[in-house]
Amino acid sequence: MSKITNLSKQEIITMYKTAKNKEEQIPILADLTASDVDTILEILKDAKVFNGAYSTCSRCGKQYPTISHHNPTKRCAECRKLASRISKIKFQIKKNNSKIQEIQRSSAKYREELDKLEAEWEV
Ligand SMILES: [Zn+2]
Repeated sequence: MSKITNLSKQEIITMYKTAKNKEEQIPILADLTASDVDTILEILKDAKVFNGAYSTCSRCGKQYPTISHHNPTKRCAECRKLASRISKIKFQIKKNNSKIQEIQRSSAKYREELDKLEAEWEV
């Protein structure tokens, strides 16, 4: 909700209620508020003015407001947030692991050079 900047919740609700094509208005409101469709849907649902379709979340079974051509995964906003957090963390771990490998390769190179130099030193 913190992303709502230019428009107040009441303005969002009013603009939705007065829109000719309510479904088309939702992505527009998301753009206007620099927010996302899920946030707008949540606001409209909380205000009990959403009069579109509801879907069942394939993960938790909860009913959530939906618009067409949005959310092909059929998951509610919370489950999608969770899934996105999981994949972000997985990506971060992968990135860290490749950094670790890079450092290990670098250390192996240094070790090799050091061994050579020390052998030379001993003579
Ligand atoms: Zn869910």
